[in-house]
Parts: sequence; structure tokens; C-alpha cells
Amino acid sequence: VLFMDLDHFKNVNDSLGHVAGDELLNQVAQRLRRRLRAEDTIARLGGDEFLILLEDVQPPNHAAIVARDLIITLSAPFHLASGYEVYTAGSFGISLFPQDGETATDIIRNADAALYLAKSEGRNTFRFYTDELTITAKHRLRLESLLRRAIEQKELSVYYQPIVQIDSDEVIGAEALCRWITAEHGTISPAEFIPVAEETGLIVALGDFVLRTACRDAAIFHQKNPKFRTIAVNASVRQFQGIEWLELISRALETLPAGLLEIEITESTIMNKGSEAVAILQRLREIGIRVAIDDFGTGYSSLSYLQRFSVNQLKIDQSFVSEMTKNPASIQLVRTMIAMAKSLGLTTLAEGIETKEQLEILRTEGCLYYQGFLKSPGVTADRFMKEFL
Ligand code: C2E
Ligand code: MG
Ligand code: MG
Repeated sequence: VLFMDLDHFKNVNDSLGHVAGDELLNQVAQRLRRRLRAEDTIARLGGDEFLILLEDVQPPNHAAIVARDLIITLSAPFHLASGYEVYTAGSFGISLFPQDGETATDIIRNADAALYLAKSEGRNTFRFYTDELTITAKHRLRLESLLRRAIEQKELSVYYQPIVQIDSDEVIGAEALCRWITAEHGTISPAEFIPVAEETGLIVALGDFVLRTACRDAAIFHQKNPKFRTIAVNASVRQFQGIEWLELISRALETLPAGLLEIEITESTIMNKGSEAVAILQRLREIGIRVAIDDFGTGYSSLSYLQRFSVNQLKIDQSFVSEMTKNPASIQLVRTMIAMAKSLGLTTLAEGIETKEQLEILRTEGCLYYQGFLKSPGVTADRFMKEFL
């Protein structure tokens, strides 16, 4: 529940009269409604107070994004019939069901309490009922605006981590990993900004940038040394949909033969997308692109989809690799994954190899490729060419 109160509404009423005040409320309601979805409920409680009910908010940060958008919507001037141009702003208190109250009365009361805090904080802002949520939501929104700027101003770059063929120890490809290096905050980890990019839709622009950069660089790598034959690019669930993405891929492939490109998706992406995923994977295969399952073993690990979907490679998650030397019983797990992949006609790559000992186990078990700090972390395109091609 979002409890909203217009800031300084009384000024409009007092200085321009009640007719102008009513008109403003009307226009505010229209703007709120335009940003909300059909299934959301919006009501005026009285005076300048509105109550908004958002259903299915997952995760809580989405409520903050809506509040932020509504704040922006309300910040543009309102043009009244009388010719006046007035400015107002909204403050929002947010409470969540069921953690902030089990009944309508409790939920609304706690949203109101949060609104009180938002107002005392200087208005034109939002607060959750719990401080913790307010802090994480504000941190994420800040990250979002920084990231938006980073994409526009090309502060992102792509690093390349070598993919090594285990039997020959040759570098035969690389995984493209997005890097965000900022002047003020140092390097921000993809583990932190990729989820934000996914939640806000920025992943589409980010993914397009990575894909185009990686394809362009890979063409140069391949030209320098034809042994370089795979560029792996991560795709997340928000990118992995429909025609638009396939078009971005086709455009990126103007500089690179399709057979050199490998798209990495996670198990959960496939499971989330169901039959749509089948169609997209099918299409990728038709174009000649290979598909790898990233972080294999951490998700559903359903065997049926491996058969049903056109997948070429399993990337065994680094958690299994690091377990292997600590707990020999887990070697059995890795052995099973490799055997299973083989019988399905898939290749295997182990991620996160840090020691020679780990590499030896994988060699013995018949794993074909690896990535890991033992060979190298992700490096710039220049370094990659100098050191590995
Ligand atoms: P991932 O695709 O599983 O990538 C492998 C991650 O493991 C990378 O972290 C890599 O630096 C790290 N790594 C590689 N070798 C080792 C090792 O020997 N030891 C350890 N401890 N770590 C190793 P990074 O670059 O921080 O990326 C994290 C995740 O962020 C990636 O996991 C991927 O899911 C996502 N990501 C990165 N770039 C992109 C991108 O351009 N698009 C999308 N959608 N996701 C990306
Ligand atoms: Mg990956
Ligand atoms: Mg991985």
C-alpha cells in the first residue's frame, strides 16, 4: 500500500481558491492513474490524501520504483483552466502485506506512519514502514541512476576471461564479463549492478552494449589467431525474450560469424520462460549460435529440459569445483554431470578453477574446458590479445 499526500496543497487552496484546488486534485489523480497498471487500485481518501494498492509486488523494491516514478510524474507543472501554472509534489509511505500488518487497518495505519516519516524527511520522497527496506530501496535507486548515466556516458567496459581447452591447455575462447569502473566508487561488481539492471529494464541497453562490443572484439581476436573460436556472452531473463532481442543479436553478428558466438543462460531463465524459451533457443540454433547453460547445478537441474532445449554446453558452477578438493564425495557429483552431459551430446566447461589440483581432477573426469583464476581473471581486450592470442 502506498499512502500519498500532496505537499503544500493547502497553499493552492488558500491562494487560488477551492475550484483550482479541485482541478489540481483531478489532474493529480489522472497522472497517478497513467503510471499505474489496470489491476492497481487508486483511491482518494479525502483532502489531499490518496491510497494506492499495488498487487503482486515482487520484490519490495518495485514498490519503491513505482513511488519514485510517481514522484517524478507529479513534479512537472500543472496547467489549470484559469491559466495558472502550479507546482506540487507527493510524499509516499509504503507498507507491505503481510509483513507490515495482517489487516487492512494495520497496513493502512503503517503506511500512514511511513508517510509521516517521509514528510518529516523533507517531503517529495518515500519511506517504507521498515527502515531496512527504505535503506536498501534508496541504495538501489541511487545505483539505478548511476547505472543509467554509466550506460549513457559509456562508463561500462567488457573484460574477457579465457576459456581453456583442458587437454591441450590452449585458450580457445573467452567469456565477456561486464565491468563498471567508476571514478567515485571504484569498481562496482556485476553481482550488484546486474540485478538492478534487470529490475529496471536497463539490462536491455547494457546487454546490447556487451553483445556488440564482444562481437566486435571477438572478430579481431579470431583474425589475430584462428584458434580463438568462441565468445561467450551472458544473457539474463529480461533480455531473453522475443523478436527484439533476436534483432539485436543479428545486428551484433554483422561483424562476426554466428558460429563463434555462444549465449549463456541460466536454468532459471529457461524454466521461467517455458515454451517461449524453446522457440528462442530454436531460433538461436537456426542462426548458428551455440547455447550454454551457466551455473549448472545451482538451479532446477532438470534433465528433461536439457533434452527438450537445443543446448550445446553445460558450465559446471564454481561451487561444485571448490567443493571437490574439500569434500571428495562431491567429485562424484561432478563426475555424474560430465557423464550426463556426454550422453546427451553436450560439452562441459568447469567454472572457477583456482588450483592445479582442481584442474587435475577435472582432466581425469573428462571435462573438456575450464575457466578460472588459475589461468586468468577477466582482462581488457588489449591484455587478452597480448597474453593469450
Ligand atoms: P558468471 O557468468 O557465472 O561469470 C563467472 C563469474 O565468476 C565472473 O564474475 C568471474 O569473474 C568469476 N570467476 C571466474 N573465475 C573465477 C575463479 O577462479 N574464482 C572465483 N572465485 N571467481 C571466478 P563476475 O565478472 O563478477 O560476474 C558475475 C556474474 O555477473 C556473472 O556470472 C554473470 O552472471 C553476471 N554478468 C557479468 N557480465 C554480464 C553481462 O554482460 N550480462 C549479464 N546478463 N550478466 C553478466
Ligand atoms: Mg557466465
Ligand atoms: Mg557461471
